[in-house]
Amino acid sequence: MREDYEVIIGLEVHAELATHTKIYCNCTTEFGSDPNTHCCPICTGMPGTLPVLNEKVVEYAVKAGLATNCEIARFSKQDRKNYFYPDLPKAYQISQYDLPLCKDGHMDVTVEGKQGNYKKRIGITRIHIEEDAAKLIHDAYTGDTLVDMNRCAVPLIEIVSEPDMRSAEEAVAYMQTLKSILEYLEVSDCKMQEGSLRCDVNLSVRKKGETKFGTRTETKNLNSFRAIYNLIEFEANRQIEELEKGGVIYQETRRFDDVKGIGYAMRSKEDANDYRYFPEPDLAPIVLSEEYIADIQNHLPEMPHIKKERYVQMYELPEYDAEQLTNSKKIANFFEETITHWNNPKAIANWIMGDIFRKLNEAEIEIDACPIKPKDMAKLVELLDKGVISSKIAKQVFEEMFESGKSPEKIVEEKGLVQISDESAIKEIVTKVVENNPQSVVDYKAGKDRALGFLVGQVMKETKGKANPKMVNEMLLEILNQS
Ligand SMILES: [Zn+2]
Repeated sequence: MREDYEVIIGLEVHAELATHTKIYCNCTTEFGSDPNTHCCPICTGMPGTLPVLNEKVVEYAVKAGLATNCEIARFSKQDRKNYFYPDLPKAYQISQYDLPLCKDGHMDVTVEGKQGNYKKRIGITRIHIEEDAAKLIHDAYTGDTLVDMNRCAVPLIEIVSEPDMRSAEEAVAYMQTLKSILEYLEVSDCKMQEGSLRCDVNLSVRKKGETKFGTRTETKNLNSFRAIYNLIEFEANRQIEELEKGGVIYQETRRFDDVKGIGYAMRSKEDANDYRYFPEPDLAPIVLSEEYIADIQNHLPEMPHIKKERYVQMYELPEYDAEQLTNSKKIANFFEETITHWNNPKAIANWIMGDIFRKLNEAEIEIDACPIKPKDMAKLVELLDKGVISSKIAKQVFEEMFESGKSPEKIVEEKGLVQISDESAIKEIVTKVVENNPQSVVDYKAGKDRALGFLVGQVMKETKGKANPKMVNEMLLEILNQS
């Protein structure tokens, strides 16, 4: 992007709430069933039906509001947002207009900037509750569009940020922090690939130094961090080029094709008054007591940034490690369970951030599907710490554990991988290696340190990596220095 321009970004994030039932009826919210099997007269908007608000929806939204430092409204209401679209059977969506449940919050995020990390506070304008729409399925073969009502009236919260972000990196950091908070609260499963966490990007550009915002576009429904990043780079450059050509930016709703890396206009953007919002006459206002809000506040789980501080204090982990382990609640849980079995936090952190992350990435799975369970991970570190196996063998055992899900003791026993720590056995091999490599002995004595490494390597080769490396080193030095 050109240096003389600045990009202004605000995000509207939709998170599907992890309630068992929909927002105004008893239909299940389960994902992935046959089309139109999870619907009833209420969520398909049949005449004569009446909605009843699911109390869990309010509880989850208040949790999200408190965790993002919002003011919680003691009095709010729901409104009808009117528009016609085939995915909306009632021809209106029940949402919240002028009195949202939560407002005026903020989140502090750590941004991985091009010149290093920095912290930034991003304002949250509001969080409101609303219902999701149905899903349209376009059949490329017949050209037909089919409607699946299962998603109709699945509860959502919409989290609207202030236009505080100035780069793709900041937008991604905001989204990652928000995802992590919602996961910690267990109010949404945040599966971006299934659409349960998705984001609309509002973006405009202006010359640096200008104080007025430019005309913004809204790109809908981005469902990966990569797509958000790519869209922002694309759209900022598109707007700058347009302005440089003397063109104008239209206020419009756009889509982004992340595979092709291009965005395109969908329709000119509606203003709020195009939706003819009015209060939902079938639902009473939401009135919350001080006790209700205090009770939720008192039961909030430990948030990621607090957990991170605790890891630094309690386990003496570097800040970087603490951050890596606490970004996701599932990873933090894995770590915490592992250290209850073997108390070596730093070594366990290293295994998780190194080998486990690598294997999970390769297998494209999350840590809760990891074939290695915390108890076995702890055992592997214990075997290593006690000198039963060498670090080289430990890597080999780890690979095998990931493949087979077997316990490390079993693998070590089956394959005879126990480290050789028997002094006479090692001495015998060391002596033999020294005798067979006279040139290396000469080199060592001539001050070439690399020769020692070579001899250690030869002993490890002879023992298939099972010799205790510390003992090998000591014995080699002893022999070399006396001969
Ligand atoms: Zn229903």
